[in-house]
Amino acid sequence: MELDAFVFSRRGTLAQERATGAQDEEDVMAAVNRFTLKPLKKEEVALFTLDLCNNKIDRHFSRFPEEELEKVNRLTPGRPLMERHDLTGTLPRGTFFRSQLHHDGGHISVRPEVYVLRIDDNRDFILNIEGGVYRETSISFSFRKPECSICGKDLRRCSHIPGRQYGDALCHFIMRDVVDVVEGSVVSAGSQGTGFVSQERAIPMTASAALNRAREEFHRPVSLWSAAWALE
Ligand SMILES: [Zn+2]
Repeated sequence: MELDAFVFSRRGTLAQERATGAQDEEDVMAAVNRFTLKPLKKEEVALFTLDLCNNKIDRHFSRFPEEELEKVNRLTPGRPLMERHDLTGTLPRGTFFRSQLHHDGGHISVRPEVYVLRIDDNRDFILNIEGGVYRETSISFSFRKPECSICGKDLRRCSHIPGRQYGDALCHFIMRDVVDVVEGSVVSAGSQGTGFVSQERAIPMTASAALNRAREEFHRPVSLWSAAWALE
């Protein structure tokens, strides 16, 4: 039985404002201009680097394995950067134009670069990033399999609980089979994370609430599935 993909959004921090040396300026603008209809000059854009996601266990007790980070890294260029308001929704502000995997010891993160047009509508957004008011980022993506770190099954098919300790091991999700990156967004520092987003209704919920809902839905046709389950 094919289970639905999760849509998940995840927090990171804004890595840096991009300092462009003269030497790579041409490369950068060439990369930007692959996504524009008319070639832009560097004065027309603000460039930022984001730290979108990494291979550590996060506060939702989930973790990307390296091969999925590579997939996210490949899928991010061309996706929109949104400005997320807690109450009024989101506005597109920029476009990711290239991305790389950043290695720091055993720590691996996806660091895409984004350009934002220096037009009046984006002025406050750019100032808020440059001034450190917007310093957190989140990535929304979908993936098919929340793998249990304890038993290796889809977490919807086992009874381990993310965040709980089993002997020496902390149970967490390993996010497998990333399907798509939907968007990245920038949010004001200290605002509440959105966590999982339910696909059909777009209600922000915690990871454990999303898992419980998925488990309930999975277990609903229990008379059909109990025989197969008993054989495992
Ligand atoms: Zn398990």
